[in-house]
Amino acid sequence: MAVCQNCHQKWPYSKAFKRIMWFNSPMKCPHCGEKQYVTKNTRKRSATLSGLVSFIIIFSGLFLELSFTSLAILAVAVFVIAILVMPLGVKLSNEDEPLW
Ligand SMILES: [Zn+2]
Repeated sequence: MAVCQNCHQKWPYSKAFKRIMWFNSPMKCPHCGEKQYVTKNTRKRSATLSGLVSFIIIFSGLFLELSFTSLAILAVAVFVIAILVMPLGVKLSNEDEPLW
């Protein structure tokens, strides 16, 4: 779970969730008000997870012979699960780290 690197307090899930949605902009800690950034590793992991989600959807479409409707439902379900799980792995930093 996201922990502020300034005051070492845990962020509520809803805050971490918003943090995931706005990766590149800093977000103020709800406890101390200090700006916090998502770490490079968290951003890389999210990119990997997005790739994995795309792979699962494409793989299912190719090998399970699902109808378009089933595939669309599966895609939405996998996407929603990925979005809901992502905030649990968010790590914060006091400084913005360049991705590369
Ligand atoms: Zn804080």
